[in-house]
Amino acid sequence: MPSPARSILSQTVPTTTEERTPRDTSGDALGRPMEEDGHSPKKDPRSSEPVPHGFASRVRIAEDLDVDPALLDRARRRFPVQWPKYYLDLAVRHGNDGPVARLGKPDPSELIEDPGDIADPISDQAKRPVPFVVQKHPDRVIILTTKKCHFYCRFCFRREEPVAKAMEPDDADWARIFAFLEAHPAIEEPILSGGDPLTLSNRQLFALRDRFARIPSVKRWRIHTRAPVHYPARVDETLVAGLGQDLPLRVVTHFNHPHEITEESHRIARLFARHGIELKNQTVLLAGINDDPLTQERLWRELWHLGIRPHYIHHPDRVAGNAMFRVRIDRGREIFARLGASLADLPQALPRYVIDLPDGSGKVPVPDLERLDSHRYRYRHPDGHLSHYRDVR
Ligand code: SF4
Repeated sequence: MPSPARSILSQTVPTTTEERTPRDTSGDALGRPMEEDGHSPKKDPRSSEPVPHGFASRVRIAEDLDVDPALLDRARRRFPVQWPKYYLDLAVRHGNDGPVARLGKPDPSELIEDPGDIADPISDQAKRPVPFVVQKHPDRVIILTTKKCHFYCRFCFRREEPVAKAMEPDDADWARIFAFLEAHPAIEEPILSGGDPLTLSNRQLFALRDRFARIPSVKRWRIHTRAPVHYPARVDETLVAGLGQDLPLRVVTHFNHPHEITEESHRIARLFARHGIELKNQTVLLAGINDDPLTQERLWRELWHLGIRPHYIHHPDRVAGNAMFRVRIDRGREIFARLGASLADLPQALPRYVIDLPDGSGKVPVPDLERLDSHRYRYRHPDGHLSHYRDVR
C-alpha cells in the first residue's frame, strides 16, 4: 500500500494543456487543481478584481505585446508561451517592448541556432543520481518537481529540458527520491525547483513537507519560485501558513527587474515575514533587461527594503534559444563592480555574482575567474582542480 504522502502526491496530477498538446501552452493552460488553493480557474477573465487571476489568451498576448501570431505559434512549439493576466498587465504598463515584455515575448532569434549555444550548459543532465534529482554539492540536492511554470521566461536555462519525458515525478519516482535522501544522510536540504514548484497544489506541497520532515537527516527545505513575480495570487495565507509548519523553510524568489516589484510583492514579503520564512532573491544578468548598474542597484535596494535578502546574480547560462540575453564576462564584471560601489552604503544588499560552470562543478564567483585571453577564462577550485570557460564572442 502506498504511503499517505505518495498517494497524495500522485492523486492530484492535473490535466494540463501541455499534456493534451505537448507544446501548445498559450491560454488558460496551467490546469492545476486551484480550487483547493482558494482560487478557481473558472473565474471571469474580465473580472474587476485588483489582482487578476488566470491566463491571457493567445489573441490577447499577440495584440498586447504586438507580436506576430505566426511567430508566437512557431516559438511555442520550441518552448511554451504563457502569460498570467497579472504579468501581462504589468508588461503593458511598462511598454510592449519594455523589460517585462521582453522576458516573455517570443523573438525570432529563439528559432535560430547560435554558435554560443551549449547543450546542457551547466551539466544538469549529467549530475542526476536518480531521475528528477540534481546533485552538485554533498549537503543539498535540487528536485525537479515539475516542468510547469506560470510563465515561461524566454531566457530559461531549462528550456531544452526534454518535454517528451514526464512532466512530473510519479509515485515510483518519488519513492526513489525519498529513498535516495534517506540513504544519503549528508543531504540536509532538499531544494524544490522545476519548473515552478508553486504550480503544485497545496496538498502536494504539504505532503512533501511532511515527508521531508520524517527524514532525520533533513534539517530544512527550500523552494525556488517565480510565482511571487508572475502569479502573486498563488501566494496566499493558506499556502504560506502551511509551508511554514514543521520544517524550517527558505524561499528563493526570482525578481529580475525593479518593474516586477509591485504592491503584490510588498504583500507577499509581509506574508512570509509574518510566518517567519526567510526570503532571498536571485536574478539572472540579462542583456537588454537588467545589464546596467543603475537597474541592478534599484532592484537590490528595493528588495532589501522589502525584507528580501540578496542571494545571487547568475551569469546567464547559454542554452539554445536564449542567445539574445547573453552577456560577456567582462561586461558582467564591470556591472558588478559598479553595483558594489553604488551599494557601498548598504553592502548587506549586495548579492554574490556567480556562474554555473558548464563542466558541472557548480557555481563559482565570476570575479574570481582568471582571464586567459579575450574570451577564455579559468577557475581554480579550492581542491586545486581547474575549470575552463569559453565566453561568447
Ligand atoms: S519560472 Fe524559472 S523554470 Fe520557469 S521558465 Fe522561468 S526561469 Fe525557467
